[in-house]
Amino acid sequence: TSFTSPPLDELLVENITLSRFTKPTPVQKYSVPIVAGGRDLMACAQTGSGKTGGFLFPVLSESYMNGPSEVVESAGAFSSHKVHPTALVMAPTRELVSQIYDEARKFSYRSWVKPCVVYGGADIGQQIRNLDKGCDLLVATPGRLKDLLERGRVSLANIKYLVLDEADRMLDMGFEPQIRHIVQECDMPDVENRQTLMFSATFPRDIQMLARDFLKDYIFLSV
Ligand code: AMP
Repeated sequence: TSFTSPPLDELLVENITLSRFTKPTPVQKYSVPIVAGGRDLMACAQTGSGKTGGFLFPVLSESYMNGPSEVVESAGAFSSHKVHPTALVMAPTRELVSQIYDEARKFSYRSWVKPCVVYGGADIGQQIRNLDKGCDLLVATPGRLKDLLERGRVSLANIKYLVLDEADRMLDMGFEPQIRHIVQECDMPDVENRQTLMFSATFPRDIQMLARDFLKDYIFLSV
């Protein structure tokens, strides 16, 4: 099996090859056709399984192919200082979001897609200045993202892909209220074609409830 079946965007495949990935891991192999087929996904996958590629490959492939999207939100007083990413990845820690961001940068190399990362415990002013340079794919910890939403610096009105990575760890760390608030904001424009992907190492009751609340007619994948 290669990265070209089902077909991923050509530039993305070149970037994957530059990363010296020669063949997809199981989670990558199965997630690509599921997401390309328009379905939501609940994946039980451990760290080290290649789950980052499992969500970045299909999301970036679609983003490349679709090209930059129009901003749908009407212009407000501060709209020039507000970014409208089309993909949002949430993960529990600074280390994890930084790792995801690094992979997103590698895989979006030479494309129009601009990844950004924000996390708590660091200077928010610097993160806001980075966001203002443009942001298509936002990788964020839930608390810092909620802060940026409240400051009017980020709009989730254009989100087409929402990814919750290490969902079980995010709940263990007490992020459930922030996550529910953020997902509600993604739901506000009532985008029918938004896709949601959840990744978790375990599938306990509280994760099953989140999947029930956030995912539509989802495919369950266990690798
Ligand atoms: P992850 O589970 O996404 O954190 O990935 C674990 C490690 O495996 C990371 O260092 C990745 O860069 C690497 N990796 C992911 N997918 C592949 C692949 N298809 N081929 C080789 N290495 C990979």
